[in-house]
Amino acid sequence: MSSKTLDAFLQENLEELKEKGLYNVIDPLESPNGPEITIKGKKLINLSSNNYLGLATDQRLKAVAIEAIQKYGVGAGAVRTINGTLDLHVQLEGKLAEFKHTEAAIAYQSGFNCNMAAISAVMDKNDAILSDELNHASIIDGCRLSRAKIIRFNHSDMDDLRKKAKEATESGQYNKVMVITDGVFSMDGDIAKLPEIVQIAEEFDLITYVDDAHGSGVLGKGAGTVKHFGLSDKVDFQIGTLSKAIGVVGGYVAGKKSLIDWLKVRSRPFLFSTALTPADVAACIEAINILMESTELNERLWENANYLKKGLVDLGFDIGESETPITPCIIGEEVKTQEFSKRLYDEGVYAKSIVFPTVPKGTGRVRNMPSAAHTKDMLDQALAIYKKVGQEMGII
Ligand SMILES: *Cc1c(COP(=O)(O)O)cnc(C)c1O
Repeated sequence: MSSKTLDAFLQENLEELKEKGLYNVIDPLESPNGPEITIKGKKLINLSSNNYLGLATDQRLKAVAIEAIQKYGVGAGAVRTINGTLDLHVQLEGKLAEFKHTEAAIAYQSGFNCNMAAISAVMDKNDAILSDELNHASIIDGCRLSRAKIIRFNHSDMDDLRKKAKEATESGQYNKVMVITDGVFSMDGDIAKLPEIVQIAEEFDLITYVDDAHGSGVLGKGAGTVKHFGLSDKVDFQIGTLSKAIGVVGGYVAGKKSLIDWLKVRSRPFLFSTALTPADVAACIEAINILMESTELNERLWENANYLKKGLVDLGFDIGESETPITPCIIGEEVKTQEFSKRLYDEGVYAKSIVFPTVPKGTGRVRNMPSAAHTKDMLDQALAIYKKVGQEMGII
């Protein structure tokens, strides 16, 4: 029998979301999540996935994943610390450390999980965390879980960070103080000011934590935002995901051996949640090998991104402050943004609208994620559709 209290709660809240137009309807794909996708039998140019390098559907990754299933089966069978650690996991972690130019690395089941794991393994209620106000939800939740005092600083505002770092350290209230930032911010595509952040961290002896989910595979010729700025030995925690450019699933921390040793005994998702599957791990190893062997996919990603960005700007769209392939098309008003995205869909482009409360009111946007797998022809088709819909709706 179901609870009346729960039923009432769900009904009331679901209705409210639907009335406000905030209820998200999910469109399942009937195809791989490649440069083109099929939804309800309709073929669309896909500008919404995080599959930056096209690796999610790469033949080489598929082949090693199938091989790993044949050899190890489909599941790891246990958590990492009991006997769920396969030689594959150890190989992956070695590769990740090499890829990130750190002493060691530890893999988790997702990037989200990784932030849950890593922050609370090191920070506690006697500590403080300086967190960029636009940090990813998983960072925010990871900070909350640690019970440290969370001090938000204005987005990429280095004067504000310095002021708050000074206050926090001079107050003598906290044992440890950490600064946390995304490497690349996912809604605007801007890059964290890591050289200044590292400088402030050195000045006030802060622990540094960079979540580079959108930077790995993209910046620093693929090695990420920290490498892009040449700061590999200056950042304590380099977080990455295996689910975006790497194309599979999982997350990791790369850093000093002592840090990774500590996370292996103290981070709860590592201790209490089953290890990544053999197929996932094998595919991740292959992806990292590909990235370390050649920058070809990375170059193609940037070529495509620059092409799409220039095309949109030439048409008269506002792409904001983007410095990476993440290309917002800022429309403004929420309803208009949703209508714009819907019209793009009708014409054959899948680009999701992102509106308040995910981004500030009045800055609704359609976010485009070009990838290495798009052809020029697909991008030209997308631009032609942008032009048509933009003119029709009086946006350009
Ligand atoms: C996407 C993202 C995550 C989550 O990664 P998953 O592997 O998809 O769980 C974490 N942090 C940031 C900054 C992200 O953009």
